[in-house]
Amino acid sequence: MKVLKFGGTSVGSPQRMKDVCRLVSEDGEQKVVVLSAMSGTTNTLIEITKCYHTGDRAGAFAIIERMRDMYSLHISNLYSTTAYKQNVQKYIDDRFDFLKSFAEQPFTLVEEKEIIAQGELLSTFMATCCLSEAGYRAALIPALDFMKIDENGEPDMEFICNNIVKHIDPESGIQIFVTQGFICRNAEGLIDNLQRGGSDYTASIIGAAIKADEIQIWTDIDGMHNNDPRIVNKTQPVRHLLFEEAAELAYFGAKILHPTCVQPAKAAGIPVRLLNTMQPDAPGTLINSEAEPGKIKAVAAKDNITAISIQSSRMLLAYGFLRRIFEIFENHKTSIDMICTSEVGVSMSIDSTHDLDRILNELRELGTVSVETDMCIVCVVGDMKWNNVGFESKALDALSDIPVHMISYGGSSYNISFLIKEEDKKRALQRLSNNLFKK
Ligand code: ADP
Ligand code: ASP
Ligand code: MG
Repeated sequence: MKVLKFGGTSVGSPQRMKDVCRLVSEDGEQKVVVLSAMSGTTNTLIEITKCYHTGDRAGAFAIIERMRDMYSLHISNLYSTTAYKQNVQKYIDDRFDFLKSFAEQPFTLVEEKEIIAQGELLSTFMATCCLSEAGYRAALIPALDFMKIDENGEPDMEFICNNIVKHIDPESGIQIFVTQGFICRNAEGLIDNLQRGGSDYTASIIGAAIKADEIQIWTDIDGMHNNDPRIVNKTQPVRHLLFEEAAELAYFGAKILHPTCVQPAKAAGIPVRLLNTMQPDAPGTLINSEAEPGKIKAVAAKDNITAISIQSSRMLLAYGFLRRIFEIFENHKTSIDMICTSEVGVSMSIDSTHDLDRILNELRELGTVSVETDMCIVCVVGDMKWNNVGFESKALDALSDIPVHMISYGGSSYNISFLIKEEDKKRALQRLSNNLFKK
């Protein structure tokens, strides 16, 4: 069985939703379909939570009524029979009334997450009804019954595997099992989510749990491009990536994939295919465990990075110094992306500043600390084994007139990363494309 995930734009209008329904039904194969919320919905739900957090009940209600009108219009265009129109209208009315009920209670992070989960509940109900109305055997399986994260926010694979099989029975005669991306329950059993863009992660987790033949991520572009198409002109699709290369690109900013999406598929050895809903016949990108030696594949960039440097003569010939630094980050649950060391100093980059002041205070006990904000990691991904000569110098050449704060190479065989100022990002990405990919 395959798992097919469709993102927000792919289900973003009645026509797109109809196209997706046709795409998942026409081959007659049994499959699991994971859907995101219709595009814009999760952002709008977040707006509603902001209103509730500030006690702006009227503001929240105004947004909810605007959403209700938009969804009602979608319903009138999506279904042909009155029975389906009425049934789905009733469902969405219940959901929007539920959103209004939060005005009557204290509003905490728990309620916020319940609200943010509504987008995927709406889209999956609508799509399942659309498939059923067209005569296909489709079943809506509730992600909240099987998708669970533990106290560290990691998927609880044992729970997921044990519970998903209760819903997906290959002998049931159901052709299309539809479920929600993104949403889950946490260790306390409360509604939670897998972070923004997390529907990709859902698809990969489900694929691993049911030992799928393939995981397909359908979106609005023909696969992973060799640079960020939102920033660089004339990017090209990459036809094949190694799991490790895809993981590096996703982690370092290629928005087409959620940062942790590759991991479950890789662990289970299931190929991932990135495909374009608008051009279903385009080959897209295949991600698997087959390496392509000697090729630089793509470039990605991750914003909002903070660089921290510690200089200390106490580091000279000392041992245990790095451990003391790492312990500080560990105690503040902050992960380090890049690190460079010399005999008298260490520089690191982090993307979460939730505890920055306390981290800096503790680091100051170890040496002189300096901080740079608004930085960006640019990452060149491909076969970057150390004994492949010339690849790192090609990347460095491209950045010859751009100030580079840190360089990380040799950490894995798949990437070389540069820490630069965010304001230099566009120029750096364009130069790298010109140097690395121009035929
Ligand atoms: P979905 O809503 O389907 O999950 P996303 O918006 O999350 O879609 O991801 C698709 C978008 O990712 C593309 O429209 C593109 O602008 C952006 N993107 C960023 N970097 C890349 C890249 N290297 N290759 C392809 N798309 C990328
Ligand atoms: N709807 C969620 C979001 O907008 C999850 C997703 O689309 O993957 O982030
Ligand atoms: Mg996405």
